[in-house]
Amino acid sequence: MKIKEKALKVTELLDKYYPEDIKCYLDHSNPWQLLIATILSAQCTDDRVNIVTKNLFKKYKSVEAFASADILELEQDIKPTGFYRNKAQHIKGCCQKLLSEYKGEVPSDIEKLTSLPGVGRKTANVIRGNIFNIESIVVDTHVKRISNKLGLAKSEDPVKIEFELMKILPKDTWIRYNIQVIAHGRSICKARSPKCEECFLRELCNWVKRK
Ligand code: SF4
Repeated sequence: MKIKEKALKVTELLDKYYPEDIKCYLDHSNPWQLLIATILSAQCTDDRVNIVTKNLFKKYKSVEAFASADILELEQDIKPTGFYRNKAQHIKGCCQKLLSEYKGEVPSDIEKLTSLPGVGRKTANVIRGNIFNIESIVVDTHVKRISNKLGLAKSEDPVKIEFELMKILPKDTWIRYNIQVIAHGRSICKARSPKCEECFLRELCNWVKRK
């Protein structure tokens, strides 16, 4: 089977089994909250980020509030998400740059987004897809693991994987691919113990065929 044909079948099955799973897992009410939540989500579960941001966004109600935050206090406020010193620097720096260069608005342009402190392609694509509805593929740990297992990607580098997937996935599936693959990674294709016997992608999966 040609790889594009396989990619199409995978997306059709994901649509069939996860038809409702097209909502971002990180709680937010506006673009800058999603930007901060995504920065916090590095090396942290979405559930934990949502617990932290519930109080965080009550305390810091604007981009200005984060830009002028006391860095030590901000570190303590986000500590449960891990890597809190770096993340606090990134969030404060990011919000300062949003104010100084973009009038406090989150830009949609990939170059502008990735020029913000703490914002790589993954975070930029979360914003582009979920806020601006611009076709983009988010490569997180689930997309990396499962795309490689399926044989849709052959790399450990998230940026390479993103470009590999862009070549083969139908463009109208890019945004929801990440969200559906996260659902699959949480329920069936778990990192430590994939439940291959009950997986609807089994017939298409390179990894299970090699076992
Ligand atoms: S068959 Fe197994 S390894 Fe392949 S996608 Fe399904 S659960 Fe993951």
